[in-house]
Amino acid sequence: MSETEALILVIEDEAPIRRFLKLSLTNHGYGFAEADTGKQGLMKVASERPDLVILDLGLPDMDGLEVTRQLREWTTVPIIVLSARGQEKDKVAALDAGADDYLTKPFGVAELLARARVALRNAARLATDQVDADFLFGNVRADLARRRVYVDQNEIHLTRIEYKLLVVLIKYAGKVVTQRQLLKEIWGQEYGEESNYLRVYMAHLRRKLESDPAHPKFLITEPGVGYRLDVD
Ligand code: CA
Repeated sequence: MSETEALILVIEDEAPIRRFLKLSLTNHGYGFAEADTGKQGLMKVASERPDLVILDLGLPDMDGLEVTRQLREWTTVPIIVLSARGQEKDKVAALDAGADDYLTKPFGVAELLARARVALRNAARLATDQVDADFLFGNVRADLARRRVYVDQNEIHLTRIEYKLLVVLIKYAGKVVTQRQLLKEIWGQEYGEESNYLRVYMAHLRRKLESDPAHPKFLITEPGVGYRLDVD
């Protein structure tokens, strides 16, 4: 699938935002479909099989969180939620329910396209179950087959937890991973709330991998949400 052929379904009740998205996406070669209610959106995901869904959290008939939950019962199509300020809790809940990323209104074209690209790329990678054996960002090279990490050719010693954290971020590279998702993937189901663990290990990782740990370029904090390995 080439990105230029990808079909993007926008579920959003506000006509001006739909128009903005239609213009931005079609100008960049994406196919476009739209729905103005949650119910219609769910139907169109089933009938049109889009490659990406952009979903407003505040819909007239049902909220976007519920749409996310219903979609995740049967499809792994990437979902980017649109949230307004004041919907931070809903946004995190949608990510926990399986949404892939979010955009906060108002957002610009460049941000929209960057998020869409990452979501489509991740979906393609996960579909083929292909995590690159060597993952590169900045001066860092992670050799996932041998479980070794290098900065400027020098091998860096990571603890088991630090390595796991890095691997989860690499798995979802470019996209935000909520604190709850990270805790569950690293420590298991029962650790959903211990976000202080993450802060500590993330600080260790930054110290070992970032050239300026106080101003990280790759291991990014998404305040109130989680973390993102920024590779673009
Ligand atoms: Ca709305």
